[in-house]
Amino acid sequence: MEPGERMERISYSYDPVTLAMPLAEEITRRVIEKGTLPEADDVRDLLRELGLEELYTGKGLALHRNRHLVALTFPGEPLIVDIIPSSGELSDAVEVIAYHDRELGAFVVEILPANDLEYEGNIGLEPAIIDEKTLELKSSPVFGHFEEGKDGLHLVIDGKTYEGWKESGKLNVCPICGGELVWRGKEALCPECGYGIRVVKE
Ligand SMILES: [Zn+2]
Repeated sequence: MEPGERMERISYSYDPVTLAMPLAEEITRRVIEKGTLPEADDVRDLLRELGLEELYTGKGLALHRNRHLVALTFPGEPLIVDIIPSSGELSDAVEVIAYHDRELGAFVVEILPANDLEYEGNIGLEPAIIDEKTLELKSSPVFGHFEEGKDGLHLVIDGKTYEGWKESGKLNVCPICGGELVWRGKEALCPECGYGIRVVKE
């Protein structure tokens, strides 16, 4: 591996999306479990579980960071978590947002890129839409967590997420960048963003 290539691979793991996806997945899970948006304390617990250190909390705001990312949480409704590279580079920033859409009769969890001019489509392909009464998931978001493999960092999704993704007919679209995926068995690679995707059974 050339040094330049290596740097490029390492920089992927600094990408805000590597925190946004597992966070959106966990927030979705909690909404389904409890039937409400997570409280400020729940989000702080989640961020700590995802390996971030708490720097500040109070006055309607929490600030967390790890070596590469900064997360700013604005609890309440909507619940907003802004994730920024600690370099301060805003063009890579993403926002995880969760709200109760009363007109739709659902809770919605989605990931929005700060720079939506460059980005086509949704990160995760679809927002999570959770029926406010039955707490059933009504959409097919492709959220997961990232693991380091021998080919670099890849998104790991469970079998249930994969089934929903397949039914939505968008298996060829990268849930991270919207690029075109190349599948080999239960693994895919995105030539555009460089991430791999792996399906694991629960
Ligand atoms: Zn991609």
